[in-house]
Formats: sequence, C-alpha cells, structure tokens
Amino acid sequence: MLEELYQAVIIDHGRHPRNQGVDPEATARQEGFNPLCGDRLVLYLVVREGCIERVCFEGEGCAISMASASLMTEAIKGKSLEQVTTLFATMHSVLVGKPALPTAEPLGKLAALGGVAAYPSRIKCATLPWHTLLSALRHEPHPVSTDDAS
Ligand code: ZN
Repeated sequence: MLEELYQAVIIDHGRHPRNQGVDPEATARQEGFNPLCGDRLVLYLVVREGCIERVCFEGEGCAISMASASLMTEAIKGKSLEQVTTLFATMHSVLVGKPALPTAEPLGKLAALGGVAAYPSRIKCATLPWHTLLSALRHEPHPVSTDDAS
C-alpha cells in the first residue's frame, strides 16, 4: 500500500511539477544536466538572511527527475541553509540506497523518491535536482552534470 502511495506521489509531481518558473530576482541560479537520461533543469533561488525565501525551476526530463525537482522545491522553501544542507545529505543517502543518517528528520513526501534506489539507471534522474541545488548554494560557476557527481 505504501508503495502505491509513493508511486501516486511520483506520478502526480512528475506530471504536474510544482514551483515551475523563472525568477529574474534569484540570488542563486544553477543549471543541471543528466546526460544518461537527458534530464535538464535550471533552478532559481532567492536566499535571504540564511533562508530559502523563494525557489522555482524550469526544465524537462523524465517523470522521476521532474518529480524529484518538484518535491525538492516544496521541501526546501522556508528552510535555513543549514537545514537544506542536512536534507541534501539525507536525500543523497536515501537515493543511492545507503542507510539513512541517524539524525535524519522524517522525510514526508520526499520518502516517495526512495524507491529509485532499486533502479540504478534512474538514480541520477532523482539526484540531479539535489546536486543542482547544492551547486547553486555554493555559487559554483559551471553547470552541474551528473557525470561528475555520484
Ligand atoms: Zn531521467
């Protein structure tokens, strides 16, 4: 039953991604590309006083990449940079199939993405938005490619 619920979340967010758009006032922006699958996105963040005040993205790709980006934007809005960095580490562990970190907070809807760990060819679809997020927050000058990331 839980698996069906998770699938429904992925399908819903994959077909109707939340927080799509372009933000000309973004204080951080990054592009990400997953050459394995062809997923692309551009992430826009407005960071004020150490918090993610706004976040949106534009992109195209498979349902898993779009669902991951959509769920990520919902999860990080309003969070502090410290919380977001911790969430990145937790999600990265979950997506690549490592045991969750002992301090991890409940993932809520993000747990729906955990199923991709069983499909190695799809893991980078799910990690792409998260690597792009981290790179944006670090203001890295070059676009993200999942070829360079694990
Ligand atoms: Zn993909």
